[in-house]
Amino acid sequence: MTPDEIYAPAAVAFCWRCGGAMHLGSYGGKPRRICSDCGFIHFVEPKIAVAAMVLRGDELLLVKRGVVPEKGKWSLPAGYVDPGEHPAECMVREVQEETSLAVRAQRLVECYYNPPGTGANLTLVYRAQLTGGTLSAGDDAADAGFFTLDALPPLAFASTLDIVRRARRSVARRKP
Ligand SMILES: [Zn+2]
Repeated sequence: MTPDEIYAPAAVAFCWRCGGAMHLGSYGGKPRRICSDCGFIHFVEPKIAVAAMVLRGDELLLVKRGVVPEKGKWSLPAGYVDPGEHPAECMVREVQEETSLAVRAQRLVECYYNPPGTGANLTLVYRAQLTGGTLSAGDDAADAGFFTLDALPPLAFASTLDIVRRARRSVARRKP
């Protein structure tokens, strides 16, 4: 993606504040859409996703993606944070929606940066503990299941691969 596409998408044609026409300008050294009438500067907000790393013994919880990008591949249960929503609460909600399982957040594992154009700009991954529910895929997950770490389905996203590496280390430490 070009800087204009990332920071100043042409689709932002009208001002959010006054309805005036937006033009391509620059602010802070980056291209921005700016209102010709009131001077409002449109800042594109980063998209933030939250994902859950849920282990049951030596099995990792994964969902089959029912939507693009990477439709048909498997990833951690995840979704976009709504404005005003705490990321840990978002993680619990997404696990519930996609797998019908109840979890509680234990700790933040990692914040992954993803290049523009690949979905979320940032992905926060929480380690989460299973607390209840019966596994059943829902929302934008086509399927859901626990997988042993040496027999995984095709995986989506570099962050999922990194979490699998961490899960393998975590499981190895628990074994004698
Ligand atoms: Zn305006």
